[in-house]
Amino acid sequence: MTQLESAREGIISPQMRLVAEHEGVEAELIRQGVAEGTIIIPANIKHTNLVPCGIGRGLKTKVNANIGTSSDFGNIDTELEKLRVAIDSGADTVMDLSTGGDTSAIRGAIIASSPLPIGTVPIYQAGIEAIARHGAIVKMTADELFAVIEEHARDGVDFITVHCGVTQSAIARLKQQGRVADVVSRGGAFLIGWILHNERENPLYEHYDRLLEIAREFDVTLSLGDGMRPGCLADATDRAQVEELLVIGELVQRAQQAGVQVMVEGPGHLPLNQIEANVQLEKAICKGAPFYVLGPLVTDIAAGYDHITGAIGGAIAAAAGTDFLCYVTPAEHLSLPDPEDVRQGVIASRIAAHAGDIVKGVRGAQEWDMKMSKARKGLDWEEQARLSLNPELSRRVHSKHASAGSACSMCGEYCAMELVEKYLGISAPKC
Ligand code: SF4
Repeated sequence: MTQLESAREGIISPQMRLVAEHEGVEAELIRQGVAEGTIIIPANIKHTNLVPCGIGRGLKTKVNANIGTSSDFGNIDTELEKLRVAIDSGADTVMDLSTGGDTSAIRGAIIASSPLPIGTVPIYQAGIEAIARHGAIVKMTADELFAVIEEHARDGVDFITVHCGVTQSAIARLKQQGRVADVVSRGGAFLIGWILHNERENPLYEHYDRLLEIAREFDVTLSLGDGMRPGCLADATDRAQVEELLVIGELVQRAQQAGVQVMVEGPGHLPLNQIEANVQLEKAICKGAPFYVLGPLVTDIAAGYDHITGAIGGAIAAAAGTDFLCYVTPAEHLSLPDPEDVRQGVIASRIAAHAGDIVKGVRGAQEWDMKMSKARKGLDWEEQARLSLNPELSRRVHSKHASAGSACSMCGEYCAMELVEKYLGISAPKC
């Protein structure tokens, strides 16, 4: 049985129990959420070293780190190093988006080394193999695409991005829309080319039941990808994007009816004032299925700083009810990320996720800030470092310039907190 089928039968699985322990909530709450489809636990039965993670309503907002080779750079060693950094920085899941080198071997090594759930986008491999076999992605057959999806499922991939909502009608809307940046999803672009060249419907949509059978057998969670996601602010929340979301809403229902766990991917690039509306739209159309946004980036002009742009959008999205943030690194739009980019991206997204959790009232979020506030007031530098997202950085920056007293070198003997404490005669609250 899949996690969803178990939950519907009233069974609390070991994975649900572990997620409940990690979140500090009752296991029954997790079971109910999984049964209703508002919580997912991506846990392929073949991923034996997995520590399960819950994503969805009432839980901590989770952060995904994308790693993987490109056709220009990377190998197993570079990607395992990025995996190590992603885990070390506090990512909750990792997606292997490799498109260069021996992608099957890279995926196998990542799964074997990862206690975190692993996601992939199988159409990348299917497209690369179609070029090698037939000379063009558009010559890929439906059987070849499903064979790759099954290979990923057998390897132990916990969630797969599948752009099932890229349909002929969505492409018609895209053509009429007249976008600035057309399509920026690689999987979406592969499928649009295939559909137009072959004058046929998207095989992932036409043969959706076949996809559901594979997903159900291995309990692979479907991440219904936004192949039509806007690639710039000017294209945000347009008719092509919304058409795809309507189709995805129907596919969410069919997946859940088949016992398959499912979440929905979202934008992308969005101005600040459209983020909340996008979250509400997804939640309404997809009946509360977990929402997984890519950033979203709130301006197009910050190349080199897009981890910040993405974190601003991610915080607003999380506060509005988004469950899962895909990180953005400083290398976004510029190059393949290196391990330090991965670290910066994960930390930025974790700040966004936590800022959202404070507003959502997620258990433990406000308490964490309260502990830090008390440590600050108490000038307890080691406790402040321990509570921070990057303790090593906190210690290093604090010790950069020595201070004569117990305060830091910013104000030295004029430390506002020390002065007020002295004159008020009130000691700092204990942590
Ligand atoms: S010296 Fe200034 S910055 Fe440092 S702890 Fe005191 S008030 Fe804060």
